[in-house]
Amino acid sequence: MNTSRIKVIQEVTNNDQYKIIYWMQSAQRIQYNHALNYAIKLANKSGSELQVIFNIIPSYKDANRRHYMFMLEGIKELNHTFLELNIPFKTTFGLPDETISKHLNTGDILILDKAYLKQPRQWRNTLYQRIKGKNTIIEIDTELIVPVELASSKMEYGAYTIRPKLHKLFDTFNDHDVLPTYAGPYQKLTSDVELNDLNAFVETLPIDQSVIETSLFKGGYQEAIQRLQTFIQFKAKDYLERNAPGEQVTSTLSPYLHFGQISSLEIVHAIQHAKEEGMINQETFDGIFEQVFVRRELAFNFVYYNQNYDQFESMTESWAYKTMEEHQDDYRPFIYSKDSLEEARTHDPYFNAAMDEMKFSGYMHNYMRMYWAKKIIEWSNSYKEAYETTLYLNNKYFLDGRDPNSYTSVAWNYGRHDRAWNERMIFGKLRYMNDKGLERKFEMKKYINYVESIKK
Ligand SMILES: Cc1cc2nc3c(=O)[nH]c(=O)nc-3n(C[C@H](O)[C@H](O)[C@H](O)COP(=O)(O)OP(=O)(O)OC[C@H]3O[C@@H](n4cnc5c(N)ncnc54)[C@H](O)[C@@H]3O)c2cc1C
Repeated sequence: MNTSRIKVIQEVTNNDQYKIIYWMQSAQRIQYNHALNYAIKLANKSGSELQVIFNIIPSYKDANRRHYMFMLEGIKELNHTFLELNIPFKTTFGLPDETISKHLNTGDILILDKAYLKQPRQWRNTLYQRIKGKNTIIEIDTELIVPVELASSKMEYGAYTIRPKLHKLFDTFNDHDVLPTYAGPYQKLTSDVELNDLNAFVETLPIDQSVIETSLFKGGYQEAIQRLQTFIQFKAKDYLERNAPGEQVTSTLSPYLHFGQISSLEIVHAIQHAKEEGMINQETFDGIFEQVFVRRELAFNFVYYNQNYDQFESMTESWAYKTMEEHQDDYRPFIYSKDSLEEARTHDPYFNAAMDEMKFSGYMHNYMRMYWAKKIIEWSNSYKEAYETTLYLNNKYFLDGRDPNSYTSVAWNYGRHDRAWNERMIFGKLRYMNDKGLERKFEMKKYINYVESIKK
């Protein structure tokens, strides 16, 4: 691992018999996890006991049954794999600063993966305050190929400004090491939470139980790897045609990336291998690399340096606010309430299909996500209302919702990381999309049929 991924938050003298705790939060995986690798190596070097802890938060903001079930399917799998690897692992339940600090004796070492969004950053800070002067704390940036603070020290203007920086640093952070064998003391830990019957456990949580799990996505690393292999074997060669909503040629790995069940570096290695094997050409490789590396890490850059990433007033550029202000009072032929939008009761079959896709599958085709969000702008009373509705639906139904990509992509519809376009009614200089464009470019019947098929 490139040691620049490591940030020592606090250093204190270890006690004689210290243990190492890795609080696994963002990176819910064993493979390609720099923080876990580091923790194992440190434990092996010092002969200390390693404990990996995953803490379940009773009601994570905006997370519902669908999100919890998917995440816990992954954690259940981790539980088995850690057991096979003889690495002590347990799940705890409660607020992380309380549960994690309870496991730390003075002089133990705490390792954790880095967070980028507000809430997980706040938890880390609260925990740091609690254990001030008590434990060495080491934070490792493992969710990104290039650590967020090293890619750039400021909020970037767009893909074109961050791309050269990321490309330049790619080789430096192309730093995967194989998982070391844990050689320290082993004792099986008792979890606070029984994960054998996920359904029974999730039903006890004080969360929205109405958004149910989807049969199209099962959580966990094994499932992610299978999707990656299917993508490489059958879909990746057609990736440059991915805009057609009826075609399913993308990886569908975003939910797995969101929960850290797979690393983007592992995906990049897989596409590099596919290119070397002649399964995809250079242009296709570049297309996938751009999304999974540049666009994704641009999204993390945005939320990391703009912690008001989820507020209408601070999510986009001044030119975009100006144009919205100028067009606020434009006549809007169609206005739909939040409920009508959510219930897919509009005059537009493509919007309705997109809304159904997200509700039934927990996912939506990328091109339709753009169209869907643009229609909400067109049909809402104000831009702020449209923004809030979009974010609400995005984070409620998508398995990949509540992600840096969610906030950045929704803001993109309002000009963030985009440019000014020709002025028109309602949208002003914001990019516009319409149904005629969809029909001109794509065989939309195929998309409608696809969505009908998943509703059955
Ligand atoms: C209105 C709107 C809302 C969106 N909401 C989300 C969201 O909540 N969560 C989310 O992860 N993505 C979101 N996206 C971005 C994008 O649509 C999804 O990441 C992508 O469709 C996921 O499908 P995939 O995994 O098959 O992508 P692939 O095309 O296979 O790409 C692989 C990975 O690259 C990254 N990626 C792909 N496209 C983009 C993009 N345009 N911007 C940034 N990263 C990208 C993702 O991590 C993705 O999983 C949104 C886009 C729009 C326009």
